[in-house]
Amino acid sequence: MFQRIKETIDNGRKFLVTSHVDPDGDAVGSAFALCLALTGLGKDAAVYLQDAVPYRYRFLPRPAAVHHELPEDGYDAVFVVDCGDLRRVGNGHESLGHKSFLVNIDHHESNDAFGQINIVDERASSTAEILYLVLKSLGVRFTGDIATNLYTAVITDTGSFRYDNTTERAFSICREMVGFGVSPVHVAANVYENHPKERFQLLCLVLATLETLSDDRIALALVTGDMFSRTHTSAEHSEGFVEYLKEIDSVEVACLLRETAHGKYKVSMRSKNGVDVASVARSLGGGGHRKAAGCTMEGDLDTIKNILIGAFSL
Ligand code: 5GP
Ligand code: MN
Repeated sequence: MFQRIKETIDNGRKFLVTSHVDPDGDAVGSAFALCLALTGLGKDAAVYLQDAVPYRYRFLPRPAAVHHELPEDGYDAVFVVDCGDLRRVGNGHESLGHKSFLVNIDHHESNDAFGQINIVDERASSTAEILYLVLKSLGVRFTGDIATNLYTAVITDTGSFRYDNTTERAFSICREMVGFGVSPVHVAANVYENHPKERFQLLCLVLATLETLSDDRIALALVTGDMFSRTHTSAEHSEGFVEYLKEIDSVEVACLLRETAHGKYKVSMRSKNGVDVASVARSLGGGGHRKAAGCTMEGDLDTIKNILIGAFSL
């Protein structure tokens, strides 16, 4: 399979790398690392991300060309990283689907193999882990910049080596990246200790909505558009809030509902043990991993909550 990627790169000149809306560390780190690697191989490469890079990932060494509008066509191939389905790319995904040769590199078990080439391994801790193997097979020289992107992607997708996707290979890739010059303290300071105080003002409002249900096994909280405006924040400031809900001892499933438009909510789900939130999210039109998944729901808040509570069968 890696052979086909090698042929695609060898035979092409101009490439685009893209990832999902509301990009997380794996999305940004993988997209930047691949783009920098392609440039290092003498190719013309650019990144397209619908949304701005969240503040906590702005320290990542970035490629020269990062677009937030889908550039004109004319790419020999488009690499789509960390996306379980092509719609996750956001604006422009239809035109990519119709016109481009797509290379899908991902680790979501819900991945629907939308590419002409599909490298999907749901056992990988992160897309960056698969990308590391791809870059090795291409003989890419790992610069400090590529290493910082890959390292950040692996640590953020493993929750700093706390989630059950934390494998020996995840550690060993990070160890190798440190050998290429990554500073773990520099990465951690930027990702985890670089929040504007407004994030915590928003967190106060969100925690005030916390409710626990089903014998405290489900935790739910809400972020509304009004809370964002009152605290001068946006979606990037609420990244990770759902993880706090999971820290409650009795909680099996945590859900954060983020209002994206009137009556429309982005649902983030996290599970600790038995509940497979990926299958719940899939049944609601979304996707993800067994222990971290998401979807979008529309309608009345109480109805949405009841659908979710019913779906977790706790
Ligand atoms: P988060 O809650 O952090 O936004 O997402 C958790 C996981 O679920 C991530 O792996 C993310 O890619 C996936 N995910 C979140 N929302 C959606 C969605 O609407 N569709 C799909 N296919 N996956 C999603
Ligand atoms: Mn990922």
